[in-house]
Amino acid sequence: MRSAAIALPADLLPADGRFGCGPSKVRPEQVDALVAASRTVLGTSHRQAPVKRLVGAVRAGVAELFDLPDGWEIVLGNGGTTVFWDVATFGLVERRSEHLVFGEFSSKFADACAAAPHLAEPVVVATPPGDHPEPEPHADVDLYALTHNETSTGVAMTLRRPVGTDGALVAVDATSAAGAVPWDPAEVDVYYFAPQKCFAADGGLWIAACSPAAIARIESIAGGVRWRPASLDLGLALTNSRLDQTYNTPAVATLVLLEAQLRWMLELGGLAACAARCRESADHLYGWAESRWWASPFVADPAKRSPVVGTIDLDTTVDAAAVNTALRANGIVDTDSYRKLGRNQLRVGMFPAVDPDDIAALTACLDHLVDHHAEALEP
Ligand SMILES: *Cc1c(COP(=O)(O)O)cnc(C)c1O
Repeated sequence: MRSAAIALPADLLPADGRFGCGPSKVRPEQVDALVAASRTVLGTSHRQAPVKRLVGAVRAGVAELFDLPDGWEIVLGNGGTTVFWDVATFGLVERRSEHLVFGEFSSKFADACAAAPHLAEPVVVATPPGDHPEPEPHADVDLYALTHNETSTGVAMTLRRPVGTDGALVAVDATSAAGAVPWDPAEVDVYYFAPQKCFAADGGLWIAACSPAAIARIESIAGGVRWRPASLDLGLALTNSRLDQTYNTPAVATLVLLEAQLRWMLELGGLAACAARCRESADHLYGWAESRWWASPFVADPAKRSPVVGTIDLDTTVDAAAVNTALRANGIVDTDSYRKLGRNQLRVGMFPAVDPDDIAALTACLDHLVDHHAEALEP
């Protein structure tokens, strides 16, 4: 039997089969919010009060979720996290950055800085996928680039300001961790992300929570002579954000989805409650994998296993591609491993929107496949 033809028992299926790592599951209530906004906010000017109020609610909601100290500001612009890396090369790195590289996403910001003609060659500290490096303080580094959760490998790291680096900024790519993993603002200056992961919205926006030191750096570079394209100018983004606007037209529907998710996360109990919900999903997934002879967590150190992106290696006798095909035929989608990692692996998004019961249902479906359809899953 071909795996595409396998029908899983209906009583095993999750209520919602979306386990992708971005775009990720959108809750139906967010779509209701979109419908509710359909004649008032959608299709109206982003320079008028209704859309500005929406941007203001997003900025306030993010600050509340992270319990940010006075003086922090929420800056946003168009283009998603990838564009923010370019924004940062123009408007945040003074001269030289250091990058902790432990997967695809962390390597991309390092590449952007290495290619920027106005910056010095960055310091790159790397580990193979499945682990993360520790920062190495350097006197001439003015920005340390960390990644809270490496979505390509499922490794999460605790955020700590490297010792003896006064005056340097700590900038954290938190695209997949923001909203699910606790962090201490005292250890960070710029915590940036896009809304298509924990915030369950569409992509195309970047959001950066900035400390007073980061704001001072942005204003200092913006006041200088360095050339930067207007669309990547962090100074312009800051000025516009303070007015609850973006420099150019945003996707208003994305903002509506994001604001609805923020409200839900705050009602749930804020960051601690979201973190607990993701932790429950992750504890189940990793515990399950450890108890199956044909599955195991990819990340060896339990302390580094991500609570939002679970990477599970399969035995060579169980072909992950065949498993994913069988799951997809039953409405369970996007459990594929990161393409460039090239492992026989499943990758499971466990963002706050994902119900822990659905993670349990997913593992029950995997058990059923291996228990009843092993031949169809052979490579
Ligand atoms: C998804 C992701 C990105 C890419 O985000 P885009 O908005 O598509 O640019 C970058 N970094 C991390 C850690 C991610 O998870």
